[in-house]
Amino acid sequence: MRGVVMHAAGDVRVEEREDPKIIEPTDAIIRVTASCICGSDLWPYRGIEPVKDQIMGHEYVGVVEEIGPEVKNVKVGDFVVGSFVISDNTCEICQSGYQSRCVRGEFVSATVGTQSEKARIPLADGTLVATPGQPDPGLIPSLLAASDVLGTGWFAAVAAEAGPGKTVAVVGDGAVGLMGVLAAKQLGAGRIIAMSRNPQRQELARFYGATDIVQERGDEGVAKIKELTNGLGAHSVIEAVGTQESMMQAIRSTRPGGHVGFVGVAHDVELPGLELFFADIHLHGGPAPVRRFLPDLIQLIWDRKIDPGKVFDLTLPLEEAAEGYQAMDERRAIKVLLTA
Ligand SMILES: [Zn+2]
Repeated sequence: MRGVVMHAAGDVRVEEREDPKIIEPTDAIIRVTASCICGSDLWPYRGIEPVKDQIMGHEYVGVVEEIGPEVKNVKVGDFVVGSFVISDNTCEICQSGYQSRCVRGEFVSATVGTQSEKARIPLADGTLVATPGQPDPGLIPSLLAASDVLGTGWFAAVAAEAGPGKTVAVVGDGAVGLMGVLAAKQLGAGRIIAMSRNPQRQELARFYGATDIVQERGDEGVAKIKELTNGLGAHSVIEAVGTQESMMQAIRSTRPGGHVGFVGVAHDVELPGLELFFADIHLHGGPAPVRRFLPDLIQLIWDRKIDPGKVFDLTLPLEEAAEGYQAMDERRAIKVLLTA
């Protein structure tokens, strides 16, 4: 089969890879209908994380082709959505809603690599969720979004305790930040402030429910958020970038007693203890337990109540994945969908 391999920073190729086979009785093999390139794939692409001959991809939707003898919850022919973390969905950590830290968990990006024609999904019963039927092709981008960016933005909004009567600020205008806006709106937040200086992304943020846009960054951005919230700061702040500046922007934009939901993969972030101490805020984040939210998100998409698929502004065949990486790296595309 064909699949993406990142040989080194900036060096992405689509190559022949070995066809996946059932190894464990709990595995399923899926034919990938669509996958995509993640903002987190840009960290190694830009040389910020080390990379050598790494298979790529952790977001996926597809059709089950084969199942191991112990798989019960999905069957051959099912259309499925899976999280970017393999999970059994039965251990104590999974049962508490943190499937992204399953005791048997593994990252799809490390061991599976779904920017490919097929994929072996371990712990299929716990990891995959079948859709109610074969989806209309128009729903596929949205279902794919549920696999990571939507689930991650949703977790960030839940972690930030977005809800009725709350003012939510969103740091980061990438796909996850935009999905955080969507989630905050769905969770009932009245006022949603998107921080973005990109006109196209501002427009999408407004489409998803942003009521205000703040263009400033860093401490100037914080000052703007305070200005919009009677000097207090937002109740709920979503951090969807992962840099020192974005994390401090999120923390300083939060009012005392407020909540930060942070889902940007942290790179060289150091939190000043004394400032944190006096901030009096809640910090909750990490790799999103997307699996917790998948059944509900699939249903919202199926019923056409949300349209997260609009974050994909470039669709390319898998063979042209290298162009997709370049487009995202240069911020010409928010998020690239790859068709198999
Ligand atoms: Zn588990």
